[in-house]
Amino acid sequence: MADDCIFCKINIGEIPSEKLYQDDDCFVIRDIAPKAPTHLLIIPKQHMTYLTGMTPEFQPVIGAMYKAASLMAVAEGVADAGYRLIVNQRDDAGQEVPHLHMHLLAGRRLGPMG
Ligand code: 5GP
Ligand code: ZN
Repeated sequence: MADDCIFCKINIGEIPSEKLYQDDDCFVIRDIAPKAPTHLLIIPKQHMTYLTGMTPEFQPVIGAMYKAASLMAVAEGVADAGYRLIVNQRDDAGQEVPHLHMHLLAGRRLGPMG
């Protein structure tokens, strides 16, 4: 838990947000400003900002995030049509929230990267 972190506050329920999925390591919510018909955020419960400096203890959490993403793609009905997973890191990627998270985008042709 980090002070003044939006995603830590959502995790503990201090900021209300419907959790579509959760397990011991991560939870999933809809993005408040969706960029595609399906736009989910897969968020680790433990506060971490960057992948750089990740400790070995955190590595299973990354696996849990991919598992949650694949389950949610099925639950949202987009697994077959396709989806994109994005992790923004630091300024050049436009990271807005300094708590690691993965975007799941789907429901339309997402176009080429970049
Ligand atoms: P980033 O740019 O850091 O990779 O993505 C942060 C995402 O979090 C943005 O897409 C933004 O719309 C979303 N977001 C920011 N604040 C909230 C919030 O309070 N609730 C939800 N559900 N999404 C949020
Ligand atoms: Zn946090």
